[in-house]
Amino acid sequence: MVGEPDGREVAYLDYNATAPLRPEALEATLGALCNVGNASSVHPLGRDAATRVGTARNQLADLLNCTPGEIIFTSGATEANNLALRAAYARGGVLVTTAVEHLAVLETARVITAGIPDALAVLPVDEDGVVDLESLYTALHDGEVVIVTVMLANNETGVLTDLKPIVKAAHEAGALVHTDATQYVGRLPLDLNEVDVDLLSLSAHKFGGPQGVGALFVRRGTPLQHRPLLVGGGQERGWRAGTLNVAGIAGLGAAAQAARLQLKQEAARTAELRDSLETGLISNVPGCRINGARVPRLPGVTSVTFPGIPADAVLATMPEVAASDGSACSSGAPSPSHVLLAMGCSREDADSTVRFSLGYATTKRDVERAVDATTRAVTYIRSVMAATAEP
Ligand code: PMP
Repeated sequence: MVGEPDGREVAYLDYNATAPLRPEALEATLGALCNVGNASSVHPLGRDAATRVGTARNQLADLLNCTPGEIIFTSGATEANNLALRAAYARGGVLVTTAVEHLAVLETARVITAGIPDALAVLPVDEDGVVDLESLYTALHDGEVVIVTVMLANNETGVLTDLKPIVKAAHEAGALVHTDATQYVGRLPLDLNEVDVDLLSLSAHKFGGPQGVGALFVRRGTPLQHRPLLVGGGQERGWRAGTLNVAGIAGLGAAAQAARLQLKQEAARTAELRDSLETGLISNVPGCRINGARVPRLPGVTSVTFPGIPADAVLATMPEVAASDGSACSSGAPSPSHVLLAMGCSREDADSTVRFSLGYATTKRDVERAVDATTRAVTYIRSVMAATAEP
């Protein structure tokens, strides 16, 4: 439960948009903010800032099971995705991605392959949101694929990708593999010794770090052309120029450590809460449907379609619950979720879908409140719609 400025309590179930700052991250961020020092300065205050950055790099490396030298700090996953794809695509060829990626991948892919015939292959997914491997194999066979980018967990449905067969096929074809792991990192265990991707993106605020900071993992030895988005002072080994965001990075590191230490318990607890949310909604709201429920998903996400009931009306009717509709907003104009459409959902059903996302601080009370409020909201909207539909 999170307090609102006007004193009302809100059940915060929007962790996939952003998670509350973990206390450990707040402390580390404030600690760094209260100290002057540029991480590139050689005097003791600069060294102190550099130490904070080094600690965070180690903490993140421990969470991912990689080496600290394989991490490039960025402003978030959007930048990490841009950096990864631009570098991997520097020599041209075919870029393979999926229909359900976040726009930070899809738009980057579209921009960097624009105007080049057959340079972009977008793999379909099935009705559960699982990537179609046959079309990957076809794409790898048909063109000179240089990079395959597939998200590890979907931000709208939580559906997970089994990366093993994708990595195997891509590597055999000589392509690099990038994964947008923004929604996965800090929610489920990840071992980069086992998941053999070359590049991985993440954002701190999804696992309890501050907003505006993230990282790109680049596996040592990956044959990448040096294509920084930002050039200047050569920070981050020339991959990302600009004074380091020491406070943000320190917060990211502390959140990574806290998430790592509690990962298994948090995942189990969150899954249990998510399951009780789903059970409550299914038994109270006739006709509602869970998207991607038949396949492995993130523990804390549920995408629920209330056929015939606009999701924005549901959300507006229950201000005591903070959740999201599935629509992607581009330049202020809401459009139906491309993820749900790719899963075969109708436009109407996509517009009637609410995403609840839970996390480390979600309580049983939040879930009960969400079940009650959603039930009341849907019942009320149905009655209003029925009344206005009468002649
Ligand atoms: N990828 C995925 C899967 C995401 O969910 C998000 C955030 N919604 C991003 C990338 C972009 O992250 P950020 O806005 O922190 O750069």
